[in-house]
Amino acid sequence: MAGILHIAFQAIATKLPVDMPLVLSKNPAFKTVTEFDTIYGNKISQYRSENTGLQIVVVDVEGPVISCHSVLATESMYLIRFNWLMQAVSDDSGCPHTLEHLVFLGSTKYPYKGILDLLANRAFAQGTNAWTAVDHTAYHIKSVSEDGFLRILPIYLDHILFPTLEESAFTTEVYHMNGSGEDAGVVFSEMQGRENTSVSLMAAANQRALYPEGNGYRSQTGGLMEALGKLDNETIRAFHKKAYVSRNLSVIVIGKLDHSQLLQAVQPLDEELAKRPWVDSAPTEDLATSVLRTVEFPDRDESMGDVRIGWFGPSDIQEIAAIDMLGVYLCNSPIAPLRKAFIEIRQPLCTGDIENKNYDAAEVDPYAGFNYAIITAFVYGDTEGKDLKRYLEDLKAFEHLFSWTEEQWAGCINKWLIEAPHVAILGKPSAVMADRLVEDNAARVKDRVEQLGKQKLEQLQKKVDDAQALNERPVPDKILEDFKIPGIDSIRDNSTQKALDSMSSGLWMQLDNIKSQFFNISLHLSTANFTHKQRLYSSLFLYNIFVNPVKRNDGTTLDWMQVVEQLDQNTVNYSASFGVANGFKDLMTIKFKVDKTKYKEAVEWIVGVTLSKMLNDLPSQARNGSGMNWALYHHLIFDEESTAKAVNLATLAKFLPQVEKVLQENPAEVIQMLEGIQQLGMYLKVYIDVSLPAGESSGSYCWTGVVPRSYITPIRYARDLLSPIGRNPCRYATILALPSIESCFSIHFSRGPQDYNDPDLAPLQVLIEYLSLLEGEFWKKIRGAGLAYGASLGLRLEEGIVEFSVYRSPNSALAFSKAREIVHDFKSGRKEFEQLALDSAKSSLVYSTVSVESSLLKAASSGFLTQVLQKRPAGYRRDFLDKICNVTIDELKKMLDKYISKIFEGETSRVAVVCSGGKSEVR
Ligand SMILES: [Zn+2]
Repeated sequence: MAGILHIAFQAIATKLPVDMPLVLSKNPAFKTVTEFDTIYGNKISQYRSENTGLQIVVVDVEGPVISCHSVLATESMYLIRFNWLMQAVSDDSGCPHTLEHLVFLGSTKYPYKGILDLLANRAFAQGTNAWTAVDHTAYHIKSVSEDGFLRILPIYLDHILFPTLEESAFTTEVYHMNGSGEDAGVVFSEMQGRENTSVSLMAAANQRALYPEGNGYRSQTGGLMEALGKLDNETIRAFHKKAYVSRNLSVIVIGKLDHSQLLQAVQPLDEELAKRPWVDSAPTEDLATSVLRTVEFPDRDESMGDVRIGWFGPSDIQEIAAIDMLGVYLCNSPIAPLRKAFIEIRQPLCTGDIENKNYDAAEVDPYAGFNYAIITAFVYGDTEGKDLKRYLEDLKAFEHLFSWTEEQWAGCINKWLIEAPHVAILGKPSAVMADRLVEDNAARVKDRVEQLGKQKLEQLQKKVDDAQALNERPVPDKILEDFKIPGIDSIRDNSTQKALDSMSSGLWMQLDNIKSQFFNISLHLSTANFTHKQRLYSSLFLYNIFVNPVKRNDGTTLDWMQVVEQLDQNTVNYSASFGVANGFKDLMTIKFKVDKTKYKEAVEWIVGVTLSKMLNDLPSQARNGSGMNWALYHHLIFDEESTAKAVNLATLAKFLPQVEKVLQENPAEVIQMLEGIQQLGMYLKVYIDVSLPAGESSGSYCWTGVVPRSYITPIRYARDLLSPIGRNPCRYATILALPSIESCFSIHFSRGPQDYNDPDLAPLQVLIEYLSLLEGEFWKKIRGAGLAYGASLGLRLEEGIVEFSVYRSPNSALAFSKAREIVHDFKSGRKEFEQLALDSAKSSLVYSTVSVESSLLKAASSGFLTQVLQKRPAGYRRDFLDKICNVTIDELKKMLDKYISKIFEGETSRVAVVCSGGKSEVR
């Protein structure tokens, strides 16, 4: 294969499931093609059906989440080559993408739009999802229940293999002309929002320059607007018939489950044979010479353009790894050559070794980490499983690079980056084009209205309305009721071996023994003893922590470039931020990921950085409506002792200009402040691999004596740092006008439960989920009515607050009134809670509660949060699941009275609003 361009249409379709009894066949046709252990320690099994060629790949990953992608190789040219009827259709028709949308509108057995989502809500799963890339379409679902997953998978596959593909679905979902003569349809609107952006226009130009006419990689898989207008349902049906056959389908399952059960669940399938796309297609010719093209894109601001360079890359895995590594080396740190040449231009060029970059994707997120390699092996590899193994060995390829000589690297750069012919696309903003697009569209609609006449337009509108009505036929309750919700006892735990260590030095550590190639070290630094001024400076401290000169314990100093170089050499990655898991903003968190052979060096080095002297320039803080809204909220609810208040945007906007002035007049004062911040209390968390050499099994000795006992300070909770407004929100509104935004954001808040073990938590969270569900009350009546892009309820336990927030609204007061009306209807009994929706809310909450611990790494991190910071007992999560399942409708009513309705009453609620200058409205 030549280098592939992945243009992903991150789909859309959020859809999902129904109950179909498992058809258990006695003699599964599936045979094991290959089975092996990856270098990450996970077993991979590949099966193929002898009847149909359908492929199933299972990766065993410990943990509660089962993730599944059903992947079909799709090639737009397919049609033109195989079906003479299709000759008129261009390869930009978007067949693969439009079909992806239509799959979610119902199957022959389940002919209801949205049924997959409704059933997913009952299978401890999250709404379905799909995307179409230039070479494949993937349908995704995740569940935390093996039983639920095995029952929903056949229904999902039924949709993929036997969609109804009704004309009415095409009309609303793909394309139609409405009664005003305008082009419309879900896919059409999606592409309208994308086709003329600089990114899409340049990507398309790049593809056309790289690939000749008739080559599948040239096609715009999403569908160009003009081609969508000519596409018809018959073409999509024909495309489905050719491409969606079992031989061309791979079901990739990542998680822990019984393989034989899975094979039996997938038995009943299509037997039609088909030629495999891509593999059997004519190979792409190499580019003979370099190409330079200019592409215009519509933009009224013509001050800045884009450049995109593309070329064919290697197909050899070792060479691909080398190119990946070169990318990291050239771009990924403040001292990377390209960054220095383009961004940090006042600094001299410097050299750095490429070393110690390992890839940890399969550990951080094994679900995504494995998926890409398996899909590529399916679309391009052999069917006997040899390529699957090869594609999964990328880590070995990276290790091998350590032994590459300078000549080898230079040769690789020469061959692939310098000498290989390339396509350069210059993206040029054009105000003329922006105006022309608008005018052309208006003229086209005007012409149509004149030509078609009133009667014909009315017919068009009626066709759309009829199609809409047909698509919206409700899913019978019976189907939902028959899909039994799985028992929570089937959910797998992801508990790690935990050892809590209170060290002789007084340091507080948590050691988690997990199977890993890396150490993950998080330092949590308490700001409890800071003065108010130190709090203000703490954001500067954290922002600059990795680019500051360091004075090490042995007295030597490193300048900032040496610091960055050493960080790159000694760690896999690093980051710094305030808080833990969206709370505990009083803690500064500094994270490092380190190769497991470098633990001791890393600890010494990390301490050197965090306790270093520093001095540098100011951060520039990004601003947006939603960010400012939460800043305003924090500003209101916290008192002066709170770090969350000191480092939030509203405070910094005032504070940073002051620092700039001080820096000019008396820089020593700034340095002194930052030095003062070294008086840190510390909470330390360390994940340690059990496979350490003897003597390093606890890993704690490295830390001995590093931090004096007097530095240890207690953790402070947000609820102890509230201002009078935070403690007693009532009556007032605070409005901030922001000229840079066009819409409105608001946060309405009231008091909520404050204890991490409060018995109200389960019923209250179920109620919040009930009201906020996809296709739920708020969703339909607020988002659906165009009152806001988002509206949700939230429980902020650490602050002891419940809130209703409106995101991006033309008028947030209206959105708020609508929410109040919904809540009042439930409160007064005008509207009743429904059992089916309650079941969905519980199932959805079970999924989000369990999936927090989807990988061992995440489980360890969540263990620290729940046990150390939140002081919840070890078995907390499991108990909480039981409580969720037992919540009753009566309890929902109680929670509504006790908490949620208080948000909507003036005496017990306060609001923070951010909106554009012209808008002022509050209840
Ligand atoms: Zn789409």
